[in-house]
Amino acid sequence: MNAEIIAVGSELLTPQRLDTNSLFLTDQLNGLGVEVTQKCVVGDHRERLADTVRRAVARSEIVILSGGLGPTEDDLTRDAVGDALDRKLVFHPEIAAQLEERFAQMKRKMAEVNKRQAFILEGAEILPNDRGTAPGQWIEESGVSVLLLPGPPHELKAMFTRQCLPRLARKVPRQVIETLVLRVAGMPESDLDQLIAPVYKKYTNPATTILAAAGDIQVHLRARCATQAAAAQLLAEVAGPIEALLGDRVYSRNGEPLEVVVGDLLKKQRATLAVAESATGGMLGERITSVPGSSQYFVGGFITYTNRMKAEALGVSKSILEQFGAVSKETAEAMALGARRRSGATYALSITGVAGPDSGGESAPVGTTYIGLADAAGCQVIHRQFLGDRTRIRTFAGQWALDLLRRKLTLPGV
Ligand code: AMP
Ligand code: MG
Repeated sequence: MNAEIIAVGSELLTPQRLDTNSLFLTDQLNGLGVEVTQKCVVGDHRERLADTVRRAVARSEIVILSGGLGPTEDDLTRDAVGDALDRKLVFHPEIAAQLEERFAQMKRKMAEVNKRQAFILEGAEILPNDRGTAPGQWIEESGVSVLLLPGPPHELKAMFTRQCLPRLARKVPRQVIETLVLRVAGMPESDLDQLIAPVYKKYTNPATTILAAAGDIQVHLRARCATQAAAAQLLAEVAGPIEALLGDRVYSRNGEPLEVVVGDLLKKQRATLAVAESATGGMLGERITSVPGSSQYFVGGFITYTNRMKAEALGVSKSILEQFGAVSKETAEAMALGARRRSGATYALSITGVAGPDSGGESAPVGTTYIGLADAAGCQVIHRQFLGDRTRIRTFAGQWALDLLRRKLTLPGV
């Protein structure tokens, strides 16, 4: 079953206000196994809103509107839904009396405009609002449930969870939504899509979405089924061939980030890690230590930005720095070996590169990065040319460094 959400309010079309109600509603609906297939924001404009409601009712089984139920001229949801569904607004004196009573309790006299909130669409069921003045409305229109809910989030949340959720649960066939997240390192998004699209395109259920960040891609598979077991089976059926195609580039099957995966591997192998960072200036150490319990395997790091620091803190020789430069395979190697030797860690990662935007007098172009990994057997260095701004290049570098270590820990001999 599909749902659609319409957030009403011109303020939501400005840079100052965000429609958060639809995020809450989507989470709640997904919990019932209902997929939100479309949502939109419409300003306080009667014809546009009526038009939007007409289209929504024609294609979705559940249509939820939030906002525009206030007492002022710009609150047009009632009128617009009346236009769209060809239903009149009927004045309910008992609601007006309740509103007056509410104002009396606050020792205030109710303004005449508040009576607008006592108008209910023909045939609608009234959803009382104990947190505000605007009652909600529930209309059944040829099998489509149309819900009018107040805009203030604390009013909407209470009304939805207490009054709407139980009713929707009775209407909606029992369904569960299960999500499987594969995380992939070391692959551009377009290459990944080209590789796995032939598999996921065969299915509308599960729905597949691909989210890409610098050097880190997430493949989300969302299955909708009658039972948890059926959803799990369907996810396995689709994820299996996708994983086979991606091979060891998949680093996580439960959404965990790379620093957690690498940390677990280090713990299992009772190994320790040190880092030597130039271009990333501590970003790698920050990522590693963001994981609770990282003190079990992370011994520490060296932020060696200048040549002098590389020489003094890590013992990189002057001749290497002079002959090959700070951004070079040789320097990355000497940094990793030095970090391992001086820290006593099992493994040491090093990063040196040009993050830009200026090439800083280096012979290497912006994005040039060398990543070293030292262990008891020696040191390997990879060279990458990253594209993007400073943050992106630095993020790429950290990601590739962690992935280099992951491969070392999972695929001996790499
Ligand atoms: P309204 O029901 O249109 O009078 O909205 C009352 C207030 O609720 C607005 O001023 C907003 O602060 C808030 N509001 C309305 N719609 C939303 C929404 N979709 N997400 C978050 N806040 C909202
Ligand atoms: Mg409004």
